[in-house]
Amino acid sequence: MAESATLAVGAKVVAAKAKGHDVVAFAMGEPDFDTPANIKQAAITALEKGMTKYAPTAGEKSAREAIAAKLTRENGVPTAFDQVTITAGAKHAIYMALQAIVEPGRGDEVLLPSPAWVSYKPLIELAGAKCIEIAGAVENGFRITPSQLAASINAKTVGIVWNSPSNPCGIAYPAVEVRALCDELSKHEKIVVISDEIYEKLIYPEIAPGLTHFSPGSFDALRHRTITVNGLSKSYAMTGWRVGYLAAPLAMAKELIKLQGQMTNSIPSFFYPAIVEALTNSADSVETMRARFATRAVLMHEALATVADIRSVAPNAAFYAFPDVSAHFGKTSPQATKITSAQSFADALLEEAHVAVVPGEDFGECARGNIRLSFACTEANITNGVERLRTWVASLR
Ligand code: PLP
Repeated sequence: MAESATLAVGAKVVAAKAKGHDVVAFAMGEPDFDTPANIKQAAITALEKGMTKYAPTAGEKSAREAIAAKLTRENGVPTAFDQVTITAGAKHAIYMALQAIVEPGRGDEVLLPSPAWVSYKPLIELAGAKCIEIAGAVENGFRITPSQLAASINAKTVGIVWNSPSNPCGIAYPAVEVRALCDELSKHEKIVVISDEIYEKLIYPEIAPGLTHFSPGSFDALRHRTITVNGLSKSYAMTGWRVGYLAAPLAMAKELIKLQGQMTNSIPSFFYPAIVEALTNSADSVETMRARFATRAVLMHEALATVADIRSVAPNAAFYAFPDVSAHFGKTSPQATKITSAQSFADALLEEAHVAVVPGEDFGECARGNIRLSFACTEANITNGVERLRTWVASLR
């Protein structure tokens, strides 16, 4: 299997810092904020009370109920607690969902609107399916259209991995466009929708007025074949906790829970009260972080506009900018590196200007000319790092 490209850049940053370089890291997709204190306290209290034993595979009922209530209330996905399983991060939920829907050796295909998060394709292939990328054009804000979707579907299509808001695109689809895509999917009864909504709460209507989240699981004609995936990593600044979840139609959920029971069993039992606390009592903290990310999205986009010959889409969700830098391919850097790809661009940028970005190659065929910059970092980092990028790009010959 391919190593995760984002984790690989993370390791290069650690190595560069160990050499004493002052690195500006735009590589990691994780909030720079700490987990809200009330959520931490809920776990500490649970631990002190002795919640240290095995828990049911799918999780404590109270936490599953809180998730079901959230999905029903906020997402319009009517969910009962027994349709929910709490997983070791959203990544684990996506892994299981793909293992469940793909039959190896049958020629199954899974659709992937791209550019897409680096782990989807390896996880689709690991499950035994062919990954069919559908390219979202920069000109269309990285979004795919219903006619592109229709053209990608055939008798072998068993699923689609849907991700809005998107990593790495930094955009959310307007609800009306998601509905149009759901309408197309509803014509094909075999297709299971795996909807990864991990950035759902990080949407910036202050940048794109009226922009809201839409869950495919709330679309009547798809409800019976949609697996909704989410987690606490991004919105609640809890990446290191490893808390994700999925909700599926009951028959599917039962199978997924069996799979989980043989893989990991439950997550740490003292996290369950923290999940309830996050979902029922932390909206203010989420909003404070969301508003900061919105400010940084604007700052990042304005800063990138000063860099010569790159094409970018203004981020309106998640915490990524994903500019196309391919106009610089064929040039040579000050330290004589030939820039031939996003990978060589990112490597030379880190080596020479000490700015870490993730090269686009692993986000899809259509992303080979792009680099990803995470703005889940301080405003000073954004200003400083993009200024270094601007100066370095200006020195390419
Ligand atoms: N889905 C997307 C789109 C992501 O960007 C990430 C993390 O970068 C994940 C899932 C993984 O989330 P978790 O930390 O909950 O496993």
